[in-house]
Amino acid sequence: MYYGFDIGGTKIEFGAFDENLQRIATERVATPSADYDLLIETIVSLINKYDTQLNCEGKIGIGIPGMEDADTGAILTSNIPAAKGHFLKQDLQAKLAREVSIDNDANCFALSEAWDDDLKDEKSVLGLILGTGFGGGIVINGQVFTGRNNVAGEMGHTRMPIDGWFHLGVNAPLFECGCDKKGCIDNYLSGRGFEQLYAHYYGETLKATEIIANQAVGEQKAVEHVERFMELLAICFANLFTAFDPHVVVLGGGLSNYDLIYEELPKRIPKHLLSVAKVPKIIKAKHGDSGGVRGAAFLNIL
Ligand SMILES: [Zn+2]
Repeated sequence: MYYGFDIGGTKIEFGAFDENLQRIATERVATPSADYDLLIETIVSLINKYDTQLNCEGKIGIGIPGMEDADTGAILTSNIPAAKGHFLKQDLQAKLAREVSIDNDANCFALSEAWDDDLKDEKSVLGLILGTGFGGGIVINGQVFTGRNNVAGEMGHTRMPIDGWFHLGVNAPLFECGCDKKGCIDNYLSGRGFEQLYAHYYGETLKATEIIANQAVGEQKAVEHVERFMELLAICFANLFTAFDPHVVVLGGGLSNYDLIYEELPKRIPKHLLSVAKVPKIIKAKHGDSGGVRGAAFLNIL
C-alpha cells in the first residue's frame, strides 16, 4: 500500500493507493497553520488510522510546496509556516519507525503522470506546470531526478533566453521574480505571466480565461497576444527540450487546459531545436488536482 500526502498551505490531502495504483481511500484535513507538533500529530494519526483500517503498513510519501535542504533535511517553504525549518522527515521517521519520502509538489505532479498507465513505459517524462507559477519535474525511468540541491525541475527560475527577449521586442517587460532575480520565465510562461504580459502590452487587466475567450472570437489584441505568447512558449520550451530531451512532456496547471497550446507548439518548436531533434509528444495531464497526492504516494514505488 502506498500512502501519499499533499500538504498545501490550507489543506492536507491524504490518499491510499493499492498495488495496482488505484486510490482506495481519501481524506482531507486542514493544515495546522503554525503549530509543528500538531502538523506531525495530524500526519501520524492519519497513518495510524489507515494502517488499522486497511490492515497494512503503508509506504509514506509527502509532497510539499517547497523542498528539503539537501544537506540538513530542514524544510524550505514559505507556504507551510508550521513546517518551515523543521526536520519533518526525521521527526516522522522517529515517530513511525518507518521510511518517509518528501519531495516537491511539482515533482510529485510529474511522477503521478509518469506512472499513468499510458506513460509508465516511457523512459523519461518532463512535467511542466503552467499554473499560477511555472515549474516542473523530471522523471527518469519512473523516478524523480532531484539533483544535488533538490532544485532540479525549478525551471521557472531560469532566465528568459535571448531569442525570447528579442521576440518580445523593444517594449519587452523585465519582470521581477519572487526569487529576487529579474527575467525568470516563471513570470512570463505561467498563467500569471500570460495575464501580466497582456496587461503590459495593452494596459488592461484581464483574466486568462477572458483573454482566451476574446482570442477565440478574433478580438485583435487577444489574437496578437496569444500569437506572441505561443511563440514565446515555443522558444522557452525548446530550450528545455534541448537540455532534457524528454520522451514525453506533460502539461498541468490552469493554462494547460488551453487546447490551442497542443496545436501550436508542435508547429512552432522545431525551428528552435537542434536540427537532429524531434519535438517530443506534448500532452495534457490526466490526473489534474489529484496529481500531488498520487505522485507523493508513488515516491516509494521503486
Ligand atoms: Zn525566479
